[in-house]
Amino acid sequence: MRFRYVFGPVPSRRLGRSLGVNLVPFKTCNYSCVYCQLGRTTRLVDGRDDFFPPKEVLSEIQEALSWNPALDYLTFTGEGEPTLCRSIGWLISRAKELSPVPVAVLTNGALLCRKDVREELRQADLVMPSLDAGDPRTFRRVNRPHRDLDIGAIVKGIARFREEFKGELWVEVMLMAGVNDTEEALEAIGRALERIQPDRTFINLPVRPPAEPWVRIPDEEALVRAQVLLKAELLPHEEEGKFGVEGFPDPVEAILHIIRRHPMRERHILETLSRFPQEAVSEGLDSLVESGQAKRITYQGQTFYAYAGGRYGR
Ligand code: SF4
Repeated sequence: MRFRYVFGPVPSRRLGRSLGVNLVPFKTCNYSCVYCQLGRTTRLVDGRDDFFPPKEVLSEIQEALSWNPALDYLTFTGEGEPTLCRSIGWLISRAKELSPVPVAVLTNGALLCRKDVREELRQADLVMPSLDAGDPRTFRRVNRPHRDLDIGAIVKGIARFREEFKGELWVEVMLMAGVNDTEEALEAIGRALERIQPDRTFINLPVRPPAEPWVRIPDEEALVRAQVLLKAELLPHEEEGKFGVEGFPDPVEAILHIIRRHPMRERHILETLSRFPQEAVSEGLDSLVESGQAKRITYQGQTFYAYAGGRYGR
């Protein structure tokens, strides 16, 4: 079966072996984060919709679960903001009926100020909202949100969800040099975290190519300050484990499917392809770029391959 909505499994730094489900078209989001690894947002929306037929998505989930018994999580994430999908609650509950694999949702948390979204996400086992700013100025600079969104209301929504939700709530802060790593910006995030009371807080770093070329990883001093002020754990710089492409007739096609949601390091792609007999590999990496199917990006001294449709400022 050729999957359209399900991808991976991918090795995740927090979630282990995670099977991803994408619920929105490429770069459909209510934010356009400067660090987004998929590039700039091309469809900035704040209204919810069924972008894909929910029954088709569910049938792919069912098929992919039967192929991948050893999973740590089924994760709703992907090419944009998953809570913009009106059927996310229905899909979470059906997925939980199909399998005992825990369900995670990676979200920017902006729509948790809505009662319907909070009710739908309550069925998940783990919800991971991002929170990169605690003040309006930094919020606008980092997340470049839809004009209707307000950071005060978003923090309130996440805090309310925390009170209602019985599962694990992990907040993730993307830290960038000179943007949100100052004492002032960190204190504002710290106050928001005090209100939210997450089970865990992670500091993430822009280790994959960001939408904007000026985004940088903070220095050691800023990282230590952030860990102390936010009482947070620092995520490892790289994912460990293998990308799952087994079961795909052509591993290159499977890689193209993954990089649409998750840019890959060149050495991870080469390692993945080396697991297959050469005759099963239709194209090399150069021809993927030359044919316009993938984009090669150098970032932090490493070569990455990303979806050719991603808009990266350079
Ligand atoms: S990082 Fe997430 S929230 Fe930010 S623009 Fe990308 S998809 Fe949207």
